[in-house]
Amino acid sequence: MKISETQCQSILTRTSGYLREVSSHSLNPYVGCGFGRSSCGEACYVRSNHWLTRGRDWGRFVDVKINAAAVYLKTADREKTWARKNRGLFSVFFSSSTDPWQPVEKKVRLTRQLLTVMHKCSPDQLILQTHSTGLLEDLDRIKSLSQICDLRVHLSIEGDRDRLPGLPPPPCSLEERMQALSQLVNRGIETVVCLSPLYPMQTPDAFFSRLSQMGISAVVIDHFVEGDGTQDGSRTLKTGLPAAMGRVAPESLDLSYRESIALIAEKYLPVGISASGFAGQYTRHVPQEKLEESNADDNV
Ligand code: SF4
Repeated sequence: MKISETQCQSILTRTSGYLREVSSHSLNPYVGCGFGRSSCGEACYVRSNHWLTRGRDWGRFVDVKINAAAVYLKTADREKTWARKNRGLFSVFFSSSTDPWQPVEKKVRLTRQLLTVMHKCSPDQLILQTHSTGLLEDLDRIKSLSQICDLRVHLSIEGDRDRLPGLPPPPCSLEERMQALSQLVNRGIETVVCLSPLYPMQTPDAFFSRLSQMGISAVVIDHFVEGDGTQDGSRTLKTGLPAAMGRVAPESLDLSYRESIALIAEKYLPVGISASGFAGQYTRHVPQEKLEESNADDNV
């Protein structure tokens, strides 16, 4: 792993494309990701972004934007004004092309610095997106920020399997992430689980029921088809993920699998699909008892 320090000119990027619907800005404290050799790195859409990788092997480099917090403070007011005028509100997706709590964060604490300076100039809305339980080390800061802006945590959990045979292990085990969810919810932090990309599931009813009982606000379900920046999933089809999914459940390769899982999830929780889900737009949650009532009415 090659870790380099860089100076950035800007840290708040005005969104376009897929992310435009989600937030006014993205914020990436790092270029590259220390989780790039784990399961999520296999089909990570960033690895094919040559502008970011500049030919370097994904998971083998991290550039640390060492002045990120100072640049945030210098530019946040200007970007807030622009965002409110042009996008309605100043919303920040943190992060879109790296993980804020990847291993190097323990050493350099760039994400922590950014969360700290955000107390001086907070976004209207902040979405913290991670695969890592490392965010628990910043729980106090996250909690206090949630009291001055509309904050939600998105924790990526691709399904109810700890491993997909043929892929490396995930950044954190399934159970570790489930425990992290409990801690977030217990602190009163809005928490959303992102099945992104959706892996073949074993017992979806049990999984979504457990999330609902824990107090999770919603789930976002994203499939690699339509969810990897291409309409047909062609970017992911070049990786090892489809073969690993197909060995377990061939039907999971089709976009219709996303719809069948979403129908099950809706019995327990609000459900968001793909970009609109990341933006916080959820379909109606139909509680199980209501479904049973309506089925009984249909039978009369
Ligand atoms: S944690 Fe996120 S950015 Fe890092 S490799 Fe996994 S999917 Fe990509």
